[in-house]
Amino acid sequence: MPEGDTVWLAAKRLHDAFAGDVLTRSDFRVPQLATTDLSGWTVAESASRGKHLLLRLTRDGDDGLTLHSHLRMDGAWRAYAPGERWTGRPAHLIRVVLRTKRSVAVGYHLHEVSLIPTADEETLLGYLGPDLLGADWDADEAVRRIAAQPAASIAEALLDQRNLAGVGNLYKAETLFLRGLWPWTPVADVADLAGTVKLAQKLVASNRGRWTQTTTGSLRRGETSYVYGRRAQPCRRCGTAIAKADQDERVTYWCPRCQPKPG
Ligand SMILES: [Zn+2]
Repeated sequence: MPEGDTVWLAAKRLHDAFAGDVLTRSDFRVPQLATTDLSGWTVAESASRGKHLLLRLTRDGDDGLTLHSHLRMDGAWRAYAPGERWTGRPAHLIRVVLRTKRSVAVGYHLHEVSLIPTADEETLLGYLGPDLLGADWDADEAVRRIAAQPAASIAEALLDQRNLAGVGNLYKAETLFLRGLWPWTPVADVADLAGTVKLAQKLVASNRGRWTQTTTGSLRRGETSYVYGRRAQPCRRCGTAIAKADQDERVTYWCPRCQPKPG
């Protein structure tokens, strides 16, 4: 489940395997780029912004290009050594294959794959709120954006990438549990918005650099979350059965006792 930290790590792995190298072949299995050939382009860097992955390419005499992809819920990038078996996902999910002399990058189930001038990245991604894992993370700005929609639920507000970029469903549910917030609480009724934003950022940042995500501090299977994915299991704090319900086309998990409906 890609959250900001997963995309950050995927971008870092691609960067480590490709930066500075020249592409020897590219294979796009998406209609809009089917005839694109990126051989001869150098991978300058791989970066993430929220849940978007940006592979920046340069070539002498040309303006830079950015290969953009969005991982949504199910996308992934994997780097392999030449000749290594591709074990990431079923082959029919492959959307992009990029090769250099020392590595092969395989993009599975990518969304919104596009090739744009690097100079146009802002046009494509300018709507995003402050990036939780960005060097320019700005908590005050994220709080300001959330507070501007006082009637939205706090769960919806945390997932809205225009407010802050990088929180997915897991960190949303866990943040709300740790703050004792009922997921449908209107933003206007959240007493400490800044504290909530700060915690969400801390949870995402503390998981950057590994694939296993934990909010409890334990990396053991079955112990990595308080409420997410734990429907009907006892709350780790009070023993009440964790609830699960649909909320704005996503699911949400919460402890009815630790996160009571206000009023
Ligand atoms: Zn509880």
